[in-house]
Amino acid sequence: MEKEYVIAIDIGGTNLKADLVDREGNISDFSYTPSHASEGREALLTSLKKIISLQMECGKKIVGIAAGSPGTVNNATGVIDYMQAHIPNWTGTRLGEFLSIEAGVPSQIDNDANVIALGEYWKGGGQGAKCLLALALGTGLGSGLVVEGKVMHGPFFNAVEVGHTIVCTDGTNVPCSCGNFGCAESFISPGKMISRAHHSMQVGLPSVLGGYPKLTISQIQDRYKNNDVPEFTVKDMVDHYNDDFLCKRLIDDSMKYLALLIYNLSKCYDPDVITLGGGMFKSADFFMPLLYGQLARYYVSPDLPVKYKIKISELGDLAGIYGAAKLAWDHVDALRAKNA
Ligand SMILES: [Zn+2]
Repeated sequence: MEKEYVIAIDIGGTNLKADLVDREGNISDFSYTPSHASEGREALLTSLKKIISLQMECGKKIVGIAAGSPGTVNNATGVIDYMQAHIPNWTGTRLGEFLSIEAGVPSQIDNDANVIALGEYWKGGGQGAKCLLALALGTGLGSGLVVEGKVMHGPFFNAVEVGHTIVCTDGTNVPCSCGNFGCAESFISPGKMISRAHHSMQVGLPSVLGGYPKLTISQIQDRYKNNDVPEFTVKDMVDHYNDDFLCKRLIDDSMKYLALLIYNLSKCYDPDVITLGGGMFKSADFFMPLLYGQLARYYVSPDLPVKYKIKISELGDLAGIYGAAKLAWDHVDALRAKNA
């Protein structure tokens, strides 16, 4: 029998990634193209069309397609129920139908973080877990829960959006991507740590990130007024953790709220595995001792039971591809079982 493949797509704010994936999870025929998501629905659909046709050109037998997308994704209808302004007009897009028409095979879609969780369950640190909690720390804070092999969605496809649980009712002036204040994402995600650093320097906190002590506080503020915005990464914050007050505070806040979140979620869902993904944990040797130190505040036993559940993602950027492939294969199998 001719070997079968599914198309697995990861829709990102900047890039689109797609691969063919066989039933065993072997990845081939990698395609990569700018998503043009910030230009809106039509531009993103054009990019999707392009990447699907690139995958189809391989001439292999394709039997399914699936994609992970940002936003509230209705896994039952294949429609994007809600997306904030980052992808203009993405709300209401009949993405599942679009994928099916373009590829000529059955499709599935889900929220990108749910898809990452499914990828971790299938091929990553969550293999064999009864209850897997996956946290993805990037521009935002994505999360997904896989229980007995199934993604928990909730009736409105908003379940386990832990990045938007409010963990602080004051103390931040930087809004979350959802528009609210005090969400876990606002403190924990690398993207928001950078936003908070900019905000702090604009209101007069000195930091090496803006050029202090070579520049005075007012000279750093002038940089922002003159659109000479300082550029830095979370790695720069790590490098100055011991000699810069702002870097230390932002990192400590991030680990403090991540520990709080992990503790509370452990009490809610009792996961046997928690995966931490995103570029931030490439510096795991630096962050994990800080995280365990914060977690120790909540556990009365000197041993940290949660310590043995936490795994740094080894799939990296491929978690979303593996997850989309699993989503597609599960759908293919369900349709075949129904038609048998
Ligand atoms: Zn939020």
